Amino acid sequence: MTWSLLIKNGTVVDGSGAPAVAADVAIENDRIISVGPNLSGEAARTVDARGLMVAPGFIDIHSHSDLVYDGCPSAESKVRQGVTTEVVGMCSFSPAPIAPGRADLVREWTSGLSTRIPISWETFAQYLDHLRGLGPSVNIVQFVGHGALRLATVGAENRPASRDEQLGMERLLLAAIDAGAFGFSTGLVYAPSVYGSTDELIGLARSMASRGGLYFSHIRGEAATLEDAVKEAIRIGEDGGVPVQISHVKASGRENWGKMDRVLRMVDAARQRGLDVTGDVYPYPAGSTKMDNLLPGWMHDGGIGKLLERLADPGARRRAMQDCLVDGERWRTGSGAMGWDEIMIATCSRPELPGLHLAELARRTGKAPADAMMDLVLEERAGVSMIVFSQSEDNVATVLGYAHSMIGSDSLSLHAGPGPHPGKPHPRSYGTFPRVLGVYCRDKRLFSWETAVHKMTGMAAAKLGLRTRGLVRSGWSADLAIFDPATVADAATFADPHRHPIGIPYVVVNGQVVVDGPRFNPLPAGRVLTPGA
Ligand SMILES: [Zn+2]
Repeated sequence: MTWSLLIKNGTVVDGSGAPAVAADVAIENDRIISVGPNLSGEAARTVDARGLMVAPGFIDIHSHSDLVYDGCPSAESKVRQGVTTEVVGMCSFSPAPIAPGRADLVREWTSGLSTRIPISWETFAQYLDHLRGLGPSVNIVQFVGHGALRLATVGAENRPASRDEQLGMERLLLAAIDAGAFGFSTGLVYAPSVYGSTDELIGLARSMASRGGLYFSHIRGEAATLEDAVKEAIRIGEDGGVPVQISHVKASGRENWGKMDRVLRMVDAARQRGLDVTGDVYPYPAGSTKMDNLLPGWMHDGGIGKLLERLADPGARRRAMQDCLVDGERWRTGSGAMGWDEIMIATCSRPELPGLHLAELARRTGKAPADAMMDLVLEERAGVSMIVFSQSEDNVATVLGYAHSMIGSDSLSLHAGPGPHPGKPHPRSYGTFPRVLGVYCRDKRLFSWETAVHKMTGMAAAKLGLRTRGLVRSGWSADLAIFDPATVADAATFADPHRHPIGIPYVVVNGQVVVDGPRFNPLPAGRVLTPGA
């Protein structure tokens, strides 16, 4: 018997949560053929994993890489963390479906999150074909964004969907699920998803319930409205008859930090009623999103063009300040009230700005901070992203340790490779999974290796209904992350984010060695996965 790849002498942490065992792993093409002690057989290649842990490839349960696969199909910053599958189409954003003539609306809508997406598709099926053609190095689980469904039917306006538009959204959702989508996501603080009512979302959930669709929710506020927003997400699952994932569970703004325990008890109570409600989290006390999300919902009504008009209008600016300024010095949004020194510019077209806090930008420009922020969003035509330091470290650990939380980076995959790397994006693009392993498992002992790996693999695969991924088991897909428990660590920081982690010497995607010691091989090893595959 000749195997294509044999991993010898490692400690297998199989992803189920079961105790680690000393075992070899034999792979033939894209499958695991055998797992056991002292396997003997010929192999085209043998990797000595002495001292290393052999885990299933990590599943990033919440990612935004679909906004950058065109420029970065290798997903290097993710794969180097051990990620072999990314779940994308999150927070209401997905590149498809697009109604005829509305590609520009979609380009504008995603402009603050990504460089422009070269749209050459309309239907979800056409988009997935495009994705396959890119030859990604990771497996991709794609959701439909509620924002895309709305732009394709209602448009960018702040109004309820008509009966016909609701049916139109449901038709597009079902067509996407037929093509390979796993369900839909909301971003109920982002236009136009924020304009959707609870009933609209229950309708969408019901329409996909019999097809096994999943609802992934960036909820309607993670600050003052946190508890109501969690209640709404659970209700959409309950009334719609679908499983729910609460995305990037957090309490934003220090006045809301005390709510986290109550939120987790709400999830427990829903689970006790038999609902499949789970969550995900990234291991940092800061989030990142488009800076225009600091502006109130009414300013976004009608799309980016209208937003820019309002930003140029002194009356609209005054009204925004009345809505959002607290005590003249903090800015209150759906993410809570924040000081200007808690908001950092992450990426924009001007290379000298990323890394600056808005307080510093105000000092340098001699403007009031709110004006400095609104001028920047206007000058950059909303193409500016930020990092917001609004969460507590204690809550991050609480949610990581929660029995029903998985790991999702909430980030884009970026490649370091050679060449310049612009901006100061959130370090979670490079460090999420090794940070959980190194800081929270090894150093803080928040959980065992088996539990840490389970949250990154088997638990996520079960949620998604993936039948052959998330475990190291004979007959399963050969996705593996092989790491050194003594050294695995994130290296990316807020000041210096473009740094790959250490201690993850091998990553195998469908049997192909993509991370091979110091080498990164951007092979087209990934697949666009479909439900049940
Ligand atoms: Zn989100």
